[in-house]
Amino acid sequence: MVEISHGKMQELEVSTTARNQLVNLTARVREAVRVSGVQEGICLVFVPHTTAGVTINEDADPDVGADILEHLEKLVPRGRYRHREGNADSHIKASLVGSSALIPVEGGDLRLGTWQGIFLCEFDGPRRRRVWVKIMGGSL
Ligand code: ZN
Repeated sequence: MVEISHGKMQELEVSTTARNQLVNLTARVREAVRVSGVQEGICLVFVPHTTAGVTINEDADPDVGADILEHLEKLVPRGRYRHREGNADSHIKASLVGSSALIPVEGGDLRLGTWQGIFLCEFDGPRRRRVWVKIMGGSL
């Protein structure tokens, strides 16, 4: 029998320390999957903010994250835009990386590629951020 679980959404709190920063969430999302009891399904990682996002990329060499941030700075420089709050660049970068990621869950664990990790992308820190993790699936 397959039990379908609509696990309660879990919330992670993240304190960022810089205006632009990638924060590795992989271990905390893994723990959320374990706690949910879901064996086979999908894990949604959702960032409910307009100046932060989430991305999946290399977890082995931290230079990759630094390069991503540096390139986004060049692509979307801080400067004059319409938005009066003065952080239009933060909003634009958040839209470029997106606010959610979906990861397969197999055998009660995240099924990520060998080099992949899940990162909160802070573009207007330092701040306290929330990340919602929803695991959908079943326990066989
Ligand atoms: Zn704004």
